[in-house]
Amino acid sequence: MARVRWTIGNWKQNLFRGTAELLATDIVEGIPAELLEGPVRTKIGVAPTLVALDALAPWSRPAGPLYLFGQNCAAQEEGAFTGEVGPGQLADVGAHGAILGHSERRTHFREDDALIARKVQCALQAGLRVVLCVGEGLEVRESGEHENFVISQLSASLAEVDPELFQDRLILAYEPVWAIGTGKTASARDVGAMHKRIRSWLTEHHGATGADRSILYGGSVKPGNAAGLMAAGDVDGFLVGGASLEAEAFLQIVRLVAEAS
Ligand code: PEP
Repeated sequence: MARVRWTIGNWKQNLFRGTAELLATDIVEGIPAELLEGPVRTKIGVAPTLVALDALAPWSRPAGPLYLFGQNCAAQEEGAFTGEVGPGQLADVGAHGAILGHSERRTHFREDDALIARKVQCALQAGLRVVLCVGEGLEVRESGEHENFVISQLSASLAEVDPELFQDRLILAYEPVWAIGTGKTASARDVGAMHKRIRSWLTEHHGATGADRSILYGGSVKPGNAAGLMAAGDVDGFLVGGASLEAEAFLQIVRLVAEAS
């Protein structure tokens, strides 16, 4: 079975309900018809600010082509946790999934692997898709320990996941921290090597289900570098930050993901 390709825009703490609606409209109107009518070759997702999620319902699956993602999710369903939003509540406002373990949450909000592991389990248990992000910082990359670092993040972030839930709702994203929002992109060779290592870990620990997981790359992906990164090997699409805020740039990336051989 061919692995599912994804192009997912992470809009971060940008846009309001109105501007998010406008961007979603521009994206949906620009999606090539063959991608909607023919065999779907890339699933398309966006992760707007939480308060705009329900405003995007008219464009979201199954009525529209977009899968909606939260940018975070609580580690528990509900309770006395002021300010938190549980996976069921995310689903209630229209989310199909959540991005978890993004480096901005790991860095700015001190989320560690243990917390992320509980979030991943809670979100999968509630029926959400999960985009689990892993990636090394510059110091780790320069020390040459990046592959071991990423595998240990992956293993720890999945430590709580019930094997029965380890299935098609789990998506991985390799995002080297030094490439996020910096304009620096990892080389296709580096990306291919890391994705290969992640794939072999997934296969070793989770068999065929692990082998079939989509592994996305994220870090300054633009229309100009997307084709080269797709050719890196073992790359099943992208998690896109900055370029996803411009409909035309995002759509070009969508097309390149869909058309890559
Ligand atoms: C991201 O935030 O997940 C990301 C990849 O951002 P950018 O594309 O802007 O580097």
